[in-house]
Amino acid sequence: MKKMQTGLPRDVDEYRIRREALRAPDSVLRVGADEEFDLAEEAADARLSVLRERLLQGYAETGCFPPAEPFHKVRAEIAESDLYRFLVTVPKGGLLHIHAFSTAPCDWILDIGLNEPGCHVCWPQDVDTANIRGQLAFFEEGTAPTGYRSAAALLAEDDGFRSKLRPLLTSCSEDEDIPDLRIWSKFDQVFQRLMRFITYKPIFDRYYPFAFRRALEDQIQYIELRENFVPLYDLAGNVWAGSQIADLYWGMRAEIREENPGFDLKLIYSGVRSLGRTVVLEALKEAVELRAQFLDRNFIIGFDLVGEEDAGHTTGHFLPDWIRLATLLEEKQASLPLYFHDGESDWPEDENLYDAYLLGTRRVGHGFNLFRFPGLEARFRKEGIALEVCPISNQLLRYVSDLRMHPGSGYVARGLPVVIGNDDPGIFGNDGLSFDLWEVVVAWNLDLRALKTILRNSLVFSGMGEQEKAGALRRWEESWKAWAEGVARLP
Ligand SMILES: [Zn+2]
Repeated sequence: MKKMQTGLPRDVDEYRIRREALRAPDSVLRVGADEEFDLAEEAADARLSVLRERLLQGYAETGCFPPAEPFHKVRAEIAESDLYRFLVTVPKGGLLHIHAFSTAPCDWILDIGLNEPGCHVCWPQDVDTANIRGQLAFFEEGTAPTGYRSAAALLAEDDGFRSKLRPLLTSCSEDEDIPDLRIWSKFDQVFQRLMRFITYKPIFDRYYPFAFRRALEDQIQYIELRENFVPLYDLAGNVWAGSQIADLYWGMRAEIREENPGFDLKLIYSGVRSLGRTVVLEALKEAVELRAQFLDRNFIIGFDLVGEEDAGHTTGHFLPDWIRLATLLEEKQASLPLYFHDGESDWPEDENLYDAYLLGTRRVGHGFNLFRFPGLEARFRKEGIALEVCPISNQLLRYVSDLRMHPGSGYVARGLPVVIGNDDPGIFGNDGLSFDLWEVVVAWNLDLRALKTILRNSLVFSGMGEQEKAGALRRWEESWKAWAEGVARLP
């Protein structure tokens, strides 16, 4: 790189030319720099810019900048903004990072789920040892363990019951007293509270279709759900596991496609990294079986290990199991693509991303600390390993407080393949993708070119087969064009 002429300028024009030349290589590298826009897209980009600018003027006056505040505190304010309304209309493509158990908004649980016959809540008079307060489960009348009360009775005797339960199931202002990663114990408790609720078959049957339709309302056409395959139950003693669970999802997919033929759903089998090697190996074996059973439909697209990275085992800890997996796949002539959650850490010691890369991960969930490993980052960029960036999740789980400082901003600036995910919208309240997109448009100054590339990435880097992908991309390009033309016609 040639050294530029630096030093005090002779005149304004000469300085401006030098400054432009200095900025040029960065402008070219940025995500979206190579998007060629038509007139309608230019108009839509201008509108996006005006909406953002207006918000910034308002924040300058109030001194409060929402991306620097915990999302639950500013959610309502964001939802009322013109920029949010604008973003809701944008065709999003796919949602590649979202988990089972935290898929639908909490309102569904409170308003509909609690009314399901047999619903009980652990709501002891005093501190209970065996169960946690707010844990939901289904029992026949009169058979619930000590501490559980029927949801119907709790709702009948206390008008404010829902508002007492909500903070136990979502991110809320009380969480602000927990400044660090101890927030994960609350987060894990929410999953524990919901485990016996969402795995109750009559609830499962309704919870997920609601979640998928909610995503469609936010113009999300395609979802890759990280599913843990915890067996389902009902009160007659029936149990659904493995391929039966996958069949149920396949049925939901078919039902939604009757109304919305463009909708599609795929599953990523999720093991838990805090569990021992034996459990993870069993999960790997089941994932291989399931992928093979649904291979003609390409429905179970791969495997992931989820859970708090700093507290759980490293990706390399399971090395003997990755070796066994290689043998197993060879024996069975099977495949199991990997979609690792890795780099979700503030610690420089966390080197899981090296292992994720070496093991051949297709994408990376979060990749929050990739910026610490420049050589590896260059490989991700060159080889097209996409990062599933989840800004609101990272903020609420205490990896970053002010989203302007989120490393994703640098990934966009350095042209990495980035997609945006919402991770756990049921807990965080960021249902759809519009909230996370709002945060990054405002905090990272994303223009429509960057946004378009990021949204297209959600299909390009998906686990769809080539033909499915080509169809999904064509449909998305058409929706995008129609959307931009619609925006351009607005007064
Ligand atoms: Zn996740």
